[in-house]
Amino acid sequence: MKSVTLIVPCYNEADVLTMLLKELTRVTMPLSGQYCFKFLFVNDGSSDATLDIVKSFAERSDAIQYISFSRNFGKEAAMLAGMKYADSDFIGLIDADLQHSPDLIPEMLQAVDSEGYDVAAACRTDRVGESKLKSMLSAQFYKVINRVSEIRINDNAQDFRIMRRKVVDAILSMPESIRFSKGIFSWVGFRVKWFPHENRERAAGETKWSIKKLAKYAIDGILGYTSSPLRLPLYLGVVSCFAACILALYGLIRFCMPTADFPMYALLLAAILFMSGIVLCCVGLIGEYLARVYTETKRRPPFIISESNINNIRVDHQKG
Ligand code: UDP
Ligand code: MG
Repeated sequence: MKSVTLIVPCYNEADVLTMLLKELTRVTMPLSGQYCFKFLFVNDGSSDATLDIVKSFAERSDAIQYISFSRNFGKEAAMLAGMKYADSDFIGLIDADLQHSPDLIPEMLQAVDSEGYDVAAACRTDRVGESKLKSMLSAQFYKVINRVSEIRINDNAQDFRIMRRKVVDAILSMPESIRFSKGIFSWVGFRVKWFPHENRERAAGETKWSIKKLAKYAIDGILGYTSSPLRLPLYLGVVSCFAACILALYGLIRFCMPTADFPMYALLLAAILFMSGIVLCCVGLIGEYLARVYTETKRRPPFIISESNINNIRVDHQKG
């Protein structure tokens, strides 16, 4: 029988956990003849009764696993820990607050198990239950990241997904510690089936994302997937040197004319522009090296194999 682990990152979700487990059990029960389900709750340093509730679940059922952090490390860390310690053939991520409808799970499982997809991911069709400001900022963020970085992120993509083991192994092969999962999911590739999904209000409790946390998330996302800001001084420097040459040329032409006046200010300005252009180019050059060092320090794998018929390449753990 194939196994499925559903990872639930939890930060102060005491009000909603019982409801969530009830829903998850309702949806997965009819499939229990085909799959062995496990629910892995990752308590991200909650200060409410989240851990006690999760422990009480675990006492009642072997299917419940938990990991509890020493403090709040953020949802990214909670998802990473879950993926690292989940040992199933299929691994899913679902929020605790029931904004991700568990009713999609059977269809998602079918997509990865029998339709040949590697990932079944939910994408929202609307942004009900989200503030106008958050929706607007989020739309702008995806516009910027899709323009400046090498990856393409579906701006409606959610973290709610079920993946084959090999996809999770690929995600775990990216050792960077500043993690931006939406970027990582897109970076690793694989065949994704999208499941349009209406956004729902939280079942209970409140969102854990403050504007400050969201801003940090956005900056991590953009800086993690592009080094173009480091290249900016080089472009500015080239423009500045070019402008200096034009000004100098203008001065020279005026000097060669019969009236032969020499515009001192143009020469001065050209010299200043040229020197600052050179300085900017040097900074840009350092930026180029820094960009390379930055890329290397992330130690991302140079490629990810999806499948192969060579024996010692065992990317798909479900085949064995
Ligand atoms: N979460 C977490 N650590 C955090 C913030 C959030 O584990 O520091 C979990 C939270 O418990 C929930 C999921 O991440 O299961 C999504 O959080 P939330 O619903 O607050 O985000 P939103 O849906 O508002 O984007
Ligand atoms: Mg939520």
